[in-house]
Amino acid sequence: MQNIVTTLMKYMKQNFLLSILIFTLITACSPSNAADSHQSDSAILVSTTFLADITRNIAGDRLTVDSLLPLETDPHSYQPTPQDMAKIERSQLIIINGVGYESFLAALLENNRDHKIIIEASKNIAAGKDAEIDPHIWLDPNLVITYVENIRAALTEYDPKGAGVYQSNADAYTAQLKELDGWIKTEVEQIPAEKRLLVTNHEALGYFAKRYGFTITGSVIPSFSSNAAPSAQQMASLIDEIKKLGVSAIFLDSADNDTLAKQIANETGVTVISDLHLESLTEGPPAATYIDMMKHNVTRIVEALK
Ligand SMILES: [Zn+2]
Repeated sequence: MQNIVTTLMKYMKQNFLLSILIFTLITACSPSNAADSHQSDSAILVSTTFLADITRNIAGDRLTVDSLLPLETDPHSYQPTPQDMAKIERSQLIIINGVGYESFLAALLENNRDHKIIIEASKNIAAGKDAEIDPHIWLDPNLVITYVENIRAALTEYDPKGAGVYQSNADAYTAQLKELDGWIKTEVEQIPAEKRLLVTNHEALGYFAKRYGFTITGSVIPSFSSNAAPSAQQMASLIDEIKKLGVSAIFLDSADNDTLAKQIANETGVTVISDLHLESLTEGPPAATYIDMMKHNVTRIVEALK
C-alpha cells in the first residue's frame, strides 16, 4: 500500500512538473501580447469605421480594434447582422459615437450592457440643445480632440499597463488633428465669405459649418438622419432659398440617394456633388483614414464653392 501511494505521489509530482514545463513552453511560444490579461479578448469593438481609425491611432500595436460597420455603409440606415451580435458578446470594451447616432445598436447593447464597458467618444461635448440632437460632431476635427481624450481614458482603464503608450499616441494624433484644423481654415479662405453656403442631403455639417464659418442654407432631408423624407412643402421652400441666396452646390455623401437632389438641381441649376464621405471611410483613397476623409470633403467643398 505504501508503495502504491509513493508511486502515485511520484507520478503526480512528475505530472505537475510536466504541466509546468508545458505551460512554460506555451507561454514562451505564444506571440507576445502587450495587453497581458486581455489576451483572450477578440478586440476593442468600435461602432463605425472613422471611429475605428481614430481609436487605432491611440491603441497603436497594443490592442486590436474592430469596426462593427463595414466600410462605405450609412450608419443611419444600418441593420445589424447575427454576426454583429456575436461580436458584441465577445467584446469587453465597446466605443460608440453617442448622441443617439448608433440607433442600430441600441437594442443589441441593451441586452449586453451588464458585462461591458461602453464608452461614448463624444462624452462631455455639448451637443445641440434642440429636442432632436445632432450626432455629427466628428465633422469638426477640433472636437475630435475630445474624442481622443475620451478614448485614451477608456483604453487606459481597460489596459492600465498601456497608459504611457496611449498617452503618447493620443498626443501625437491630437497634434495631427490640430494641423488638420489649421489646414481646413486655410483652404476655406479660398471661398468668398458670401459663398460659404452649405446645402446637404441631411443635416450632417452643422458642427463643421460652425467651426469654419459656413451658413447652412438647408437640407434636402430636414433631419439629423438620412433615414427620413421631406414634404413637398419643405422641398419647395428649399428650392426658393437656393434661388434667393444663389447657392451653387448641393453636397451628398456617396451613400446617399441622389434622386431628390437631382430634382432640385433641375429646378435651380445647382451642381450636385455626390462623392463626400461624411459617415464612413473607404477602402483605400479617398477616405482611407479619418484625416484623409476630412481632407477629401474639404477639397470637394472648396472646389465647388470658390
Ligand atoms: Zn448623418
